[in-house]
Amino acid sequence: MSKKVLVVAEARDGSLRNVSFEALAAAKRIADGGEIIAAAFGSDAANYVEALGQYGANKVYTVTNKELDTYTTDAYSQALRQVIDAVQPEAIFIPHTGVGRDLAPRVAARLGLGLVSDVIDVEIDGGEVVFTRPIYAGKAFEKKKMTDGIQFATIRPNNIPAGEPGASAAEAVPFNVEIKDLRAVIKEVVRKTAGGVDLSEAKIVISGGRGVKSAEGFKPLQELAEVLGAAVGASRGACDAEYCDYSLQIGQTGKVVTPDLYIAAGISGAIQHLAGMSNSKVIVAINKDPEAPIFQVADYGIVGDLFEVVPLLTEEFKKVLV
Ligand SMILES: Cc1cc2nc3c(=O)[nH]c(=O)nc-3n(C[C@H](O)[C@H](O)[C@H](O)COP(=O)(O)OP(=O)(O)OC[C@H]3O[C@@H](n4cnc5c(N)ncnc54)[C@H](O)[C@@H]3O)c2cc1C
Repeated sequence: MSKKVLVVAEARDGSLRNVSFEALAAAKRIADGGEIIAAAFGSDAANYVEALGQYGANKVYTVTNKELDTYTTDAYSQALRQVIDAVQPEAIFIPHTGVGRDLAPRVAARLGLGLVSDVIDVEIDGGEVVFTRPIYAGKAFEKKKMTDGIQFATIRPNNIPAGEPGASAAEAVPFNVEIKDLRAVIKEVVRKTAGGVDLSEAKIVISGGRGVKSAEGFKPLQELAEVLGAAVGASRGACDAEYCDYSLQIGQTGKVVTPDLYIAAGISGAIQHLAGMSNSKVIVAINKDPEAPIFQVADYGIVGDLFEVVPLLTEEFKKVLV
């Protein structure tokens, strides 16, 4: 049965995040010929219509109000509720990012809807939508069906392939919303990590653990990351030891990443770390202890000193990539 699906697009620094296209790909899987409507927020929203159309949106609501230029829970949840009211979708997909993780439950609760969060796969089975999501810190997966109401889910980045862009025939629908009684306003946004590749959407992540031994010890990893176009991450061990900022932490209480390639250097492989990276497509571990648990989840293991191995890798990759 065809479905009208609403996809919330997310942009940062003037460009759409890839997970917006992945959420559209998820929508295509269940729409079955039904309409796919994207919603883009803020004064740049009209700039995103074409790209969203190329990835499958039939219509793009460009949702404008001066309060939407910077994300706040209050303003965005009011705006999204008005879009939902206008669109009357049968399914809503939101990126499972910092913004989506904040926005989706708020809207679901306000509308009395269920929500399946952190979805890594969506399919139709026997005419019903089935969502797959990790549980027990990534040790198992569950399949969920929503038996009532709108099929509402957040989509984890880097799991559902966005596919190739096609021709865009999306219709732009300018949509003004009323936003009132804001309880919080953003005065200033201070970025802890400036520039570089976004960790949660990176195709390659290189993480350092307590084995890097100091803030300086991250340097070889940063050099390798530069050559590979990778993002740098860390274990909590490295963050706790103040070798790097907590914004780099990957794991159960940090960020969840699913890159094509994850390189763990000087990380033992505690279960809480694995929760954030074990779904990576290829895992390479560099550790001087051959018994380190990280080798149990690694596709390739290098037993050795990271301060020797990482610079060697950088040199070799430079030969073919730079
Ligand atoms: C509630 C809770 C939540 C947690 N959440 C997280 C989380 O989100 N993310 C997370 O990462 N952890 C988390 N932890 C902590 C986790 O249990 C581990 O303590 C942490 O992951 C260990 O970090 P590490 O592997 O860097 O350090 P260690 O366990 O100390 O491992 C360091 C590794 O480096 C290797 N090594 C040392 N020197 C070298 C060298 N020169 N070359 C190569 N290898 C070397 C050692 O052999 C060792 O295996 C959490 C813990 C709790 C209780």
